[in-house]
Amino acid sequence: MPYLVREHLFIGNISDAAEILQHGSEEITHILSVLSSASISFFSEWRSGLVIPTKEIDKVYFGGNESEGNTADESNTSVSPKKLLYSLEFAGKDLKFVRMAVPLRDMENENLLDSLDVCLDFIEESRKKGSVLVHCFAGVSRSASIVAAYLMRSEQLSYEDAIQSLCQSCESVSPNDGFVDQLKMFEEMGFKVNRASPTYKRFHLKLLGECYNRGETIDASKFAEDPALPTKKLSSLVTDEPLSREACPTQAYRCKKCRRVVAVQDNVIDHVPGEGETAFGWSKRRSGRPFEKADDDECSSIFIEPLQWMKSVGEGALEGKLCCIHCEARLGYFNWSGIQCSCGSWITPAFQLHKSRVDVSTL
Ligand SMILES: [Zn+2]
Ligand SMILES: [Zn+2]
Repeated sequence: MPYLVREHLFIGNISDAAEILQHGSEEITHILSVLSSASISFFSEWRSGLVIPTKEIDKVYFGGNESEGNTADESNTSVSPKKLLYSLEFAGKDLKFVRMAVPLRDMENENLLDSLDVCLDFIEESRKKGSVLVHCFAGVSRSASIVAAYLMRSEQLSYEDAIQSLCQSCESVSPNDGFVDQLKMFEEMGFKVNRASPTYKRFHLKLLGECYNRGETIDASKFAEDPALPTKKLSSLVTDEPLSREACPTQAYRCKKCRRVVAVQDNVIDHVPGEGETAFGWSKRRSGRPFEKADDDECSSIFIEPLQWMKSVGEGALEGKLCCIHCEARLGYFNWSGIQCSCGSWITPAFQLHKSRVDVSTL
């Protein structure tokens, strides 16, 4: 039986969902399925012979048909263009239910954050029209993470408070450790997924590093946009139009030799000088240099997210030089398994620009 979490909000497992889809429900009108496959055939594979009628409403892919104002998504490089974000369908007995299916595996390195917005909006809308069941396979990790995030956003709760409150409805909830970390980032970002925030960028770089370690091809399409190319965000600066509030002057790093912009402040991934890998908690390496306190001046490099001009990175090597795409001057190094900054910190993976090779100016 599904558990009631809040008015018009239930949490459950795959049996609960199948039961409702097959036999109808007095109360539930909407279903959010968070399973490894968005396909309804997942149900029949799980219990052979189970036939659930469906009629597709919509399918939405990452980076594709995103709705209004999502220009920040251009820097969302964690997903290839054709990855399914969610599917929406009428389903179940008499096609009475509206079901949203979001493909998500219950794994620590799965990107939960990228699916949160659509899930939480669906729950919000569904509760206005009827009642919603959020379910995954066991009703323990994935659905609990989504519902916890929903409680966090709608009631401004910390992760701890949200999960505690959820436990009172359903004792078995227990998001996996990777999801717990991501929900804490969600809290840090103010209950929204801000892809431009340092928190998200660090997380995203970590995922990229894991993809690389698994042997996946990391081509330049997964990198952030080249800051020297005109984009929506920078176009007002390029064309001398009045600055919008968002497009306030930002620090730019230019190749010392040819002055081409090679990074902007937004691309920089900060680390705490001398503090080992705490800024990149997943790193396996340890700082070998026990500097106690150092300030930013001691760092001879800045570390940035991978950018589309870094052709050498797209070629798949573990490490190599980063050269200016315009004049080929050497700007720094990259290494997927990490580089130690002069302050002692290990940055992993690392995309490093030597401060001596770039100039800082206001864009
Ligand atoms: Zn440093
Ligand atoms: Zn140059």
